[in-house]
Amino acid sequence: MFGRVPKKSDNTRYYEILGVSKNASQDDLKKAYKKAAIKNHPDKGGDPEKFKELAHAYEVLSDSEKREIYDQYGEDALKEGMGGGAAGHDPFDIFSSFFGGGFGGGSSRGRRQRRGEDVVHPLKVSLEDLYLGTTKKLSLSRNVICSKCNGKGSKSGASMKCPGCQGTGMKVSIRHLGPSMIQQMQHPCNECKGTGETINDRDRCTQCKGEKVVPEKKVLEVIVEKGMQNAQKITFPGEADEAPDTVTGDIVFVLQQKEHPRFKRKGEDLFVEHTLSLTEALCGFQFALTHLDGRQLLIKSNPGEVVKPDSFKAINDEGMPIYQRSFMKGKMYIHFTVEFPDSLSPDQVRALEAVLPPKPTSQLTDMELDECEETTLHDVNIEEEMRRKQQQQAQEAYEEDDDMHGGAQRVQCAQQ
Ligand SMILES: [Zn+2]
Ligand SMILES: [Zn+2]
Repeated sequence: MFGRVPKKSDNTRYYEILGVSKNASQDDLKKAYKKAAIKNHPDKGGDPEKFKELAHAYEVLSDSEKREIYDQYGEDALKEGMGGGAAGHDPFDIFSSFFGGGFGGGSSRGRRQRRGEDVVHPLKVSLEDLYLGTTKKLSLSRNVICSKCNGKGSKSGASMKCPGCQGTGMKVSIRHLGPSMIQQMQHPCNECKGTGETINDRDRCTQCKGEKVVPEKKVLEVIVEKGMQNAQKITFPGEADEAPDTVTGDIVFVLQQKEHPRFKRKGEDLFVEHTLSLTEALCGFQFALTHLDGRQLLIKSNPGEVVKPDSFKAINDEGMPIYQRSFMKGKMYIHFTVEFPDSLSPDQVRALEAVLPPKPTSQLTDMELDECEETTLHDVNIEEEMRRKQQQQAQEAYEEDDDMHGGAQRVQCAQQ
């Protein structure tokens, strides 16, 4: 901001800009700023850069804490540190804190408005909601500008500059970290809640009690469209809390897709689990599947087809509708699990052998059998066994570590 101006002595320039001496009183500063700001206001054809400089110089010097930093360490100290003087305030804000707006009824040129916070709500939806689309009515409470005082907070429309923060809404605290190091912390003023102004008790608006805003109930209709995704946002622009001199933020609903008992969704596709008996897998099957819209889908195998365990089949156009092109749909994938019988009787074995393809022919001779060792196959839960082994390894590693630690201690003891 000041880069184009050659630096003179680092901690006198602000005084020179305002045309006052280094020991000017607050009153002197005020008078000097007022006079110069009127003369240099861009609305009166003044130089906007000069106007900005004036506001910044005044902002620093009128704040006793900032002035102290400036006098001791110069401009750079203010630019460094958190929320230092570099960002500063809008020069037009500073100007209007004196004159109440610009010239001729409050020109707002160059004024940047604060933007209110967005309000984010999660919105739980079922997979059925996302398949069919739905409308949800939600009742919310929000702050709106008080209609009685038009957001002034007072009957007369007047307010006073907060004495706690000189109307800036912020307080600066300084920590000395060393002989030439200071840290500046800026935080909202607690006396005026960061607004920079206070209202006389007797002058308070009766409707909002000086708060400038009143709560209002509002019902919002949230339209959940077909095919919307989990975490997709539905925005109501400018429906968040209103506040004076603030661009109202948005209300944002973030969709949260609930788990479905049968279907899993991956993008535009649906996945469903189905278990077949061994007989069904070998000899054919048919079953009805209820879709998300209540339709019954008849699902059947082709004649003579065998379904293998852990295999997938797909049905085209029975997945999720595609967002904003809901006439198009993804696929429905069916994952087949085949349940085998636990054991068979000798009769069943003989019957099966008669119909199933023959066993591999490479039979062992008696002599070859004699040379083999007998073994026994045990049932295992492989996941459980692997988990136990991992735990064991971790335990051993821990004990080893402990051993080493103990060793180090012994060495220390020996040295003492
Ligand atoms: Zn304050
Ligand atoms: Zn009011």
